[in-house]
Parts: sequence; C-alpha cells; structure tokens
Amino acid sequence: MTATVSEALEFIKENDVKFIRLAFCDLFGRQKNISVMPDVLPMAFEYGIPFDAHAIRGFTDVTNSELLLVPDPSTLSVLPWRPQQGRVVRFFCDIKNPDGSAFWGDTRQILKSVISHTQQRGYTCMVGAECEFYLFKTDENGEPTMIPFDNGGYLDVSPLDKGENVRREICLCLEEMGLKPETSHHEQGPGQNEIDFKFSDALSCADNLVTFKQVVKTIAQRNGLFASFLPKPLPDKSGSGLHINLSLSRNGVNIFKLGDSEYSGVTESFIAGILEKTPEITAFLNPLPNSYDRLGAFEAPKYVSWSYSNRSQLIRIPSAHNERCRMELRSPDPSTNPYLAFALVISAGAYGIEKGLKLKDSINVDLYQADKSITDSLVRLPETLDEALNLAKGSELVKSTLNEELILRFLHLKTLELEANQQAVNKHDYFFNNYFK
Ligand code: GLU
Ligand code: MG
Ligand code: MG
Repeated sequence: MTATVSEALEFIKENDVKFIRLAFCDLFGRQKNISVMPDVLPMAFEYGIPFDAHAIRGFTDVTNSELLLVPDPSTLSVLPWRPQQGRVVRFFCDIKNPDGSAFWGDTRQILKSVISHTQQRGYTCMVGAECEFYLFKTDENGEPTMIPFDNGGYLDVSPLDKGENVRREICLCLEEMGLKPETSHHEQGPGQNEIDFKFSDALSCADNLVTFKQVVKTIAQRNGLFASFLPKPLPDKSGSGLHINLSLSRNGVNIFKLGDSEYSGVTESFIAGILEKTPEITAFLNPLPNSYDRLGAFEAPKYVSWSYSNRSQLIRIPSAHNERCRMELRSPDPSTNPYLAFALVISAGAYGIEKGLKLKDSINVDLYQADKSITDSLVRLPETLDEALNLAKGSELVKSTLNEELILRFLHLKTLELEANQQAVNKHDYFFNNYFK
C-alpha cells in the first residue's frame, strides 16, 4: 500500500490510525504480533521494537532473548475487521539482532535472499498459492467442534453449500487488503472451501498467505464458525492442500513453457530440479504428523512424477495462457511456513537450472489405481514425518538454502513433537487438543 517510511508515517497521520501491529512469523509460519501506538512508529523504523524471543517457539534461549522488529513500510495494510475510527494497521517486519544484523530465524529474510539469488541469475519466480480449508461448527462456548459446517461437495451451490456468505465476506475483506481474490468455491470435503487470490512475486505471495489465513480465521469466527487449515482434519475425507504454482519470468515476461519455446530447456530443468528435491524438503512442506494422513489419497500425491491434467501427480502443468503458464506443485499443505516453503522450492528449481537437469517423461496414469510395475519404478514421497525429517537432515539443498541454526532447531523441535505424538495414550484427544483447536 505504501512504499517508503515517510509515506507510511504520512498514511498513519492522515487516516485516523491508532494502533500499529508489528507482525512476523515463527519458524513454523505462525503469525505473531505486537501492537504499538503511532508515536512509537518512527522509533520502530529507526531502531526496531524489542520483544522476548525466548517466548517464541524455536527462536532463542533465555540468555539471548532480545530481538527487534523493524517494520517493512511496503507491507502496510489496514485491518478491515477492526474499528474504522481509530484504525488498526499491520506491517510485516524484519527481525534483527540487537547489533542490527539479521536474525537467523527470520524466515521472511531467508526467502528474500533466495529471491535475490535467482534474480542475479536473470530470473524472477512468480508464485500463486491455492489454499484449502475447512469450516466447522462451534459449540455453545464458541469452542471448535469436529462437525463440518455443511455437507456440500465440490462446486455445490446453496443450500447444500452453506459457505457462500462466509466466502463472500472473505473475498471482500481480502480485496480491501489488496490481495485480489480471483475464484472461490466449495471443495470436495463437507465444509471444505477454497479461495484463490492472484499470483505475485514470491515474497508478496508468502505475505499474502499469512494475511489470508488470518482473514479466513477471523471472518469464520465472526460468523460463529471455526476455520481449520489442518492438512487432514477429518479421516476418510478430502485433505486440505496448499498447491504452489510457479512460473519463471524474465524482464517481466513469463517464459515458463514446455515444448516449442526458446525457454523450454530452462522450464524443463526447473521442473526437474523440484521433482528431484521434493522428498528431501518435504519435512518443511508437510511439517505436521497429520500432514502424512493426507498424502496419497483424494488428489494428494504419493509419488515423484509429473503430468498435464492429472491430479494424482506431484506436479501438474495446468492448461493456461500467457502470464498464467505455470507448474503446480501439489504436495505442500497449509501447515507449512510459506517463507521456508517458497525459499526451498525456488532453490530446488534453481538447482535444476544450474545443473541443466533433463525432465523425465510424464506418466499419465491414475497413480491411485496404477499397476505395481509402474509405482515400483517411481520415487515416493516420505510416508511419515519421521522419514521426512531423516531425508531433510542429509539434504545439501536444505543446507545451502537455510542456515545451520534454523535447520538444527527446526528438526530438533519436530523430532520432539513426533515423540510426543507417538507417546500420546489417547490419540484422538491428543490430536483434538494439540492440533485441531
Ligand atoms: N484437496 C486436494 C489436496 O489435498 C486437492 C484437490 C484439488 O485439486 O483442488 O491436495
Ligand atoms: Mg482445490
Ligand atoms: Mg490446484
């Protein structure tokens, strides 16, 4: 909305803003924020606002618990659901150490540096995210239940689809926040929905996704509902994916094209890099134990393969024209940290280009029904978080994209989480209390 510090300060003055949210994400993509009053904002831009980093899961130990939030003026956004007199605006922030250097756990900055590496090689990666979610009823105390809001299915209309008004409100709110919603529909599961907003550069897309989740959760709650971004909230029903759509552009023009094109070699290598590297970055793309209940059914992939209009594959090339030519990576789910996910996927594509990898033939069969002779010849995605963590540990790509401290902490905390899950006596209660709510 604004570009520079002085424009942002001017906006705050001119638009009856009373509260400023300084927002960031933890290692796991969970949004956190601190509110400051307008008089404090110039200081935030100049020196940063301190917070207790030890109290953020995964960040620092208690001996080094001071970190600073420095708002990025280009991310100013009014929160439309807050009062319109004495408005509330939100900035995404850089996270800095007290000496002004970048904090190792600032995943937004990690994505920024991956973006600038690809730009140095002459490409910009454009990203579009398709985020599915469920709407559940709440009980008399406003607490979530596992009862879906409706029994509608794919593209159903009202009255089977009870989500139309909620989706409408979400779209209008996203629009007010500058996100450009494009399509919305009832998805396959009962109470399952999808709203897609316009693709953009990778950093804006990750920021938008964080905003999107907050808007969906907030509007659902205001309608007496509970929105869930769990990958597999209901056993035996469709899971929720976060398809990541990627294209490459050069001098502002989309060059992503297979077949008859000057850039088909680059496109091929980019896809091949992502195919090769997805298993070892899966712990980041699918970071919950629950993520693995989704993969391998209901149009979520299980094998490393690609094709055109086949929704049983890891990568699909949708039919699209001009600026919308792209590939769709189908394994990630909404529990991922989008900054880490985009950083790793873009690095995987860049690796493919650097190595000049060739793309293997597409496999246009239904991989849920395919003969063993076909599936045995394919690499499969990790089937558990345990397996995914082990692959991530040995990954050169993970090492070269993220930093040592982040990798250590992320993998350690995920290993502890996995152990706690395995030890839980009542699995259903544990799942409901620790993940569902
Ligand atoms: N819900 C499916 C998944 O878990 C995706 C369905 C679709 O293609 O939209 O990935
Ligand atoms: Mg969908
Ligand atoms: Mg899709």
